[in-house]
Amino acid sequence: MNEVLSSELFEAFASASDNIYIYVSDMKTGVTRWSKEAVDYFGLPSEYIEDTTTMWVEHIHPEDRSIFIEDISKVLNGTSRKHNCQYRARNRYGDYNWVECKGSVIYGEDGEPDLFAGLMTRLDNRNKYDPITHMLTGYELMREDFNDAGALMNVGIDNFRKINSQYGLSYGNRVLVYLAECLKAHANGALVYRFQGDEFLIYGKGMNAEQFTFIFEKVKQECLTPIKEEHLVGFSITGSIVEFGADEGTVKVLAKSELCFNYAKENRGSFVTVYSADIEKSVNRKKLISESLLESIKEDFKGFRLVYQPIIANTGDSVVGCEALLRWKSDREDIGNCYPDEFISILESNGGMKDVGYFVMREAIRQASIWQKNFKEFNVSFNVSYVQLEDAEFVPDIVRTIEKYGANPQRIIVELTESILNVDTVKVKKSFELLRKHGILIALDDFGTGNSSFWMLHNIDVDVLKLDQSFIRGLEGTIGIDYAIVKSIGIMCDHIGCKTVAEGVETKEIWTMLSEFGFTGLQGYLFSKPIEVADFEEFLLEYNMGKNCS
Ligand code: C2E
Ligand code: CA
Ligand code: CA
Repeated sequence: MNEVLSSELFEAFASASDNIYIYVSDMKTGVTRWSKEAVDYFGLPSEYIEDTTTMWVEHIHPEDRSIFIEDISKVLNGTSRKHNCQYRARNRYGDYNWVECKGSVIYGEDGEPDLFAGLMTRLDNRNKYDPITHMLTGYELMREDFNDAGALMNVGIDNFRKINSQYGLSYGNRVLVYLAECLKAHANGALVYRFQGDEFLIYGKGMNAEQFTFIFEKVKQECLTPIKEEHLVGFSITGSIVEFGADEGTVKVLAKSELCFNYAKENRGSFVTVYSADIEKSVNRKKLISESLLESIKEDFKGFRLVYQPIIANTGDSVVGCEALLRWKSDREDIGNCYPDEFISILESNGGMKDVGYFVMREAIRQASIWQKNFKEFNVSFNVSYVQLEDAEFVPDIVRTIEKYGANPQRIIVELTESILNVDTVKVKKSFELLRKHGILIALDDFGTGNSSFWMLHNIDVDVLKLDQSFIRGLEGTIGIDYAIVKSIGIMCDHIGCKTVAEGVETKEIWTMLSEFGFTGLQGYLFSKPIEVADFEEFLLEYNMGKNCS
């Protein structure tokens, strides 16, 4: 092997720059030596490699391979002395970065090609320091080997996009600088990295979750009331902490950190969450459920069905209608039981809610048309989220479905659940108007929990108000605030001519109280749990024959 490959000269050049990697090939033996930095960064098998071209082609982005092969072939077959091309090469994290690869053939005294020496320059423009906050860049953290035990904290600004769009980019930058400086001031020796967008990573060798929680709380306070910088409005932050043992490895620690940070953002923004195996389990379960839900949708809503819970007149002598409630059973045994409180929010975040919403609507209306043949006055409610009402096709499809099955629109009730925040109120209002125009009824669900229940009551015509179960449960025992609220809502609805349904009625005492307050409909386990179609029909027959629970 040519002695240049093992010379000090090679070593000296190899460590000359962070962004440049060198390689020298012995053209006679075919052995190439790569700099240690190149081995680390690209994750090469070793410094000395026999068939470098085959190995390196694997690292090149499939779309760019032909450019490289064409150019290097000329060098190898002696038609060119120089190699010069740009392409994307994969590093050891699996990311592709643009590199510029330049090399020259060096001839020996015998006139034959002796060495092929080259430089690989990374063109990804990654600096050591972030130009805005002057903190180390996330890339620098990737270079840490995580050999010693310690902790890593991820901190992000809540609603940073909104801050930028509301106050402008330069204001957004000042917020970033402010947070970076707060983190640095409290870091207690840990290193602060600007990771990506509004996220910072704080890496502390030998530190633990307790110390980082303390730092987070301090920084959080200074962000909520930014005293050190004038004209900066307070903002909140969310954080996650991962503790790691010695030799856990960069990739593993960063993966845990990302998982925990996403969990923190979704579940309890504005706090700090410490990574645990339970969090990982819950994230994995969610992922599994999400995949399985999407499969079910693809297979024509396999596993989805509706169950029905009766709504009883306050007198207790008739079933005035029912609420359709969604159920889902996965094929996968490891999922087990999964109820709407768990899967609805997953459907909302994985984009499946729109399709499932159509399924629920069609199924509920189809069933309503069957029951309304025998019981003309029978109401069927189904649940709809505001996101569905933003879809311009949804309400026209309700109207078409009602027509198709010949159901009575004045006995179809759309129940609206969560708050109206973050939705396009103009589109939603249009949908309301269209519903109204066709005589379809609107119920406000879970009244008293959302942020805009009174706003809704004030701005749209609501036919039915469904008081949240938590108030009904609060009626038990001593007469307190819930008693006053429930009583006043009963009076208010009576006054504005809006029907009222109380959910979660579990005892006879509560039923009596609600009747006194003027609630028109009662729904709860006292009468029946949500049940299958066949059971519901049996319930209807029995109830109407006077076999009620009184
Ligand atoms: P919700 O609309 O408030 O539905 C009432 C929930 O209360 C149902 O839970 C019902 O089983 C439960 N419930 C009724 N009576 C009692 C009682 O006396 N005691 C107790 N402890 N609970 C009672 P479920 O079926 O698990 O549904 C939970 C939530 O999931 C629903 O709350 C609704 O927000 C959502 N959901 C269900 N089906 C659909 C759907 O088709 N579309 C949408 N967007 N959301 C749905
Ligand atoms: Ca409901
Ligand atoms: Ca409800």
